[in-house]
Amino acid sequence: MVHQSAIRSGYGPGPPAGTGTLTRVMSLMPASKRRPAAPEWAGNATTLRTRQVLMFIVVAAVLGAAAPAVAGPHVAAGVGEPPTIPPASVAPPDAAGAAEVVEIGTSVEGRPITVTRRGDPDGWRVLVIGVIHGDEAAGLDIVARLSERPVPAGVELYLMDSMNPDGTAADVRQNANGVDLNRNFPYNWGPIGEPGNWEYAGPSAASEPETRAVVEFITERQPDLVIWYHQDAYMIAPADGREGSIRSRYAELTALPMDSVSGGTYTGVAATWARQQLSANEPQPGVAFIVELGGTLPPADADRHADAVLTVAAENR
Ligand SMILES: [Zn+2]
Repeated sequence: MVHQSAIRSGYGPGPPAGTGTLTRVMSLMPASKRRPAAPEWAGNATTLRTRQVLMFIVVAAVLGAAAPAVAGPHVAAGVGEPPTIPPASVAPPDAAGAAEVVEIGTSVEGRPITVTRRGDPDGWRVLVIGVIHGDEAAGLDIVARLSERPVPAGVELYLMDSMNPDGTAADVRQNANGVDLNRNFPYNWGPIGEPGNWEYAGPSAASEPETRAVVEFITERQPDLVIWYHQDAYMIAPADGREGSIRSRYAELTALPMDSVSGGTYTGVAATWARQQLSANEPQPGVAFIVELGGTLPPADADRHADAVLTVAAENR
């Protein structure tokens, strides 16, 4: 995909090369017709500007194997080369492969945190976060597959490679402040340790820019399903009710065991916050869970997980 170079560039050493190349600031995403009460992107534009978070949308006409007949203009943007956005690209993206990349914030070290949006703008919203712990990067392979697969009708995909790009670049669990982002979310937050502790929760709830970017994004977009990938406990924790059914289905599709996680202090956990935040979603509460991959993710397993995301989405849309 055209936008991948811009996303990946944030993971290299030094300042992110992609941020300066995407210069076109466009109107923000349309609000869903389905959720008129949801805050609109435009409503937070002032806040975002004051943080100097550049919001942008690059609509890429994708001419890959999935849609060879689409003869739209090609956006041939490499790193260091400003993308040319043809007039036709401002039309609503279609499910044939057009995608939008939005920068939702920046890391402690200034790397962009980006989300790629695909599919039906009024569809069942699925947010997939490939990495939160920087040394657990296998989820990137799943997100990469999801950026290329056809999106089922009635489904909207939001794909985030890493919400911890500094940790990903350094191959460490925490962000550049030494904070475990999966203990930093603003629900049931509690102090854990201090810098150097593997679960250091930060000085306060949502103290980290990476946490705040994701909190803001989820609060505004209100996804129906959020999945965070981790390693390497190789399981999915069970849950009750509809949430439990969806987890079980995902586990069945990927042959992951259902088991409870243990061995840590689970305050300020991202998925727990997200479930709380999305509990009033209509017509159903939002679902959010962690998928613990194994120590490695063979390509066939990455395929299975990408398929499972799309299957679960199609079954619940
Ligand atoms: Zn983890």
